[in-house]
Amino acid sequence: MNEKTNRIGILPIGKVPEIVPQSIAAHISGCLDLPAIILPSLKNIAGCYNENRFQYDVGKTLQTLESIKFKDIDKIIGVSTVDLYIPIFAYVFGEAKQGGKAAVVSLYRLEKDTHGKKQPSSIVLERAAKVMLHELGHLYNLFHCADEHCLMHFSGGLQDLDASPLYFCRYCSKYFLDARSKS
Ligand SMILES: [Zn+2]
Ligand SMILES: [Zn+2]
Repeated sequence: MNEKTNRIGILPIGKVPEIVPQSIAAHISGCLDLPAIILPSLKNIAGCYNENRFQYDVGKTLQTLESIKFKDIDKIIGVSTVDLYIPIFAYVFGEAKQGGKAAVVSLYRLEKDTHGKKQPSSIVLERAAKVMLHELGHLYNLFHCADEHCLMHFSGGLQDLDASPLYFCRYCSKYFLDARSKS
């Protein structure tokens, strides 16, 4: 069989509630029709934690995830409860290397509303799925989309994220299908 497998590995980092990787895997197979496998969790990502900021450095985290060899896995999505940052932003919900192998998503900012009130898990899981599918799009080399009703539209905050749909627009869907058959 020549068909590419495009197997996605979901890697919990630290103490992530079991339902989160399960929901993420269900969204990958349900929304994108790709096989997703939940990997044994990592305790932490050595050398990526910034003790002054209490956050993971996203660039270093992605590099580390890319360097780990996982058998029969094409793309890796790290799921963390620790907040993430890149030097030019105070925080990010998630990040991926464009066209690369690894992405990471954090639940940290997704669990509360803008006033700091804890959100029901249904909302948190939906937000995590949106961030993850968006980052997975980047791994298949999708860029940001001008269409507000597309998952690849840039989300600047929780309000944008909550307004975003859970699917790609027709253009991005087509691009995604082409990219996954080639990668
Ligand atoms: Zn993006
Ligand atoms: Zn789009």
